[in-house]
Amino acid sequence: MIPKILLSFDVEEFDMPLEYGFDITPKKQMEIGKLGLDKLMPLLADPAIQCSLFTTANFANHYPDTIQNLSQQHEIASHTFYHSSYTEKDLLSARQRLSEIIQKEVVGLRMPRMKQVPVEDIIHAGYTYDASIHPTWLPGRYNNLHLPTSFYKDNGLNRIPASVSTFFRIPLFWLSFKNMPYALYLALAKHTLKKERFLSLYFHPWEFVDVTAFGLPNYTIKGCQSSLFLKLNRLIFDLKKHGEFVTYQSFVQTQIEH
Ligand SMILES: [Zn+2]
Repeated sequence: MIPKILLSFDVEEFDMPLEYGFDITPKKQMEIGKLGLDKLMPLLADPAIQCSLFTTANFANHYPDTIQNLSQQHEIASHTFYHSSYTEKDLLSARQRLSEIIQKEVVGLRMPRMKQVPVEDIIHAGYTYDASIHPTWLPGRYNNLHLPTSFYKDNGLNRIPASVSTFFRIPLFWLSFKNMPYALYLALAKHTLKKERFLSLYFHPWEFVDVTAFGLPNYTIKGCQSSLFLKLNRLIFDLKKHGEFVTYQSFVQTQIEH
């Protein structure tokens, strides 16, 4: 089987400045999120790739037509209702609202900030897979070094972990992509793809616009805007030689069938 590349974006209101005590209005958060999504459109229009867009229902409520259009080619999955707050009922209401907007069933979940919630809550809300596991150690956030790096079942729930390097489990997520030299990141990603037969990567649309004015630490915004966009295009170009870009949903399907 051709290795699968699962490229995902967390399509959300840009609330990260709040984490750093910088005030940003809900309106501005939404605008920045949308600007970023617009910036990604040329990439998302590439017929050779399919992505999964983990979208908050709040964001989709502001831009339903955009989300609906994107659902023609890509998977729309749930990033719950609001990025800044969570209650259990949001799991179901977000899934229902997104399904209503795209007129298709929504089956996947990624929790904001990879927050862990009980498996039964996720299943109860009708999701078939979860992509909120990052099997690495992020100081001050989580230590998941004991969790699998491959696709696995967890009490009836399909889990697709975010990818890490084969040695030392260095996360291959958005912050690494920004901060590592390109050649190193690509080498690690190719290694993981070869070993695991899949890569699960995630970025955010707001990374691709100028967010220097919002009090964020430099390592979170480094190489933002155009240079990062070019870097990501280069990554896609290079990875195309080693695998096929598919959605999380279709990847889960192939795993279940095997
Ligand atoms: Zn998020």
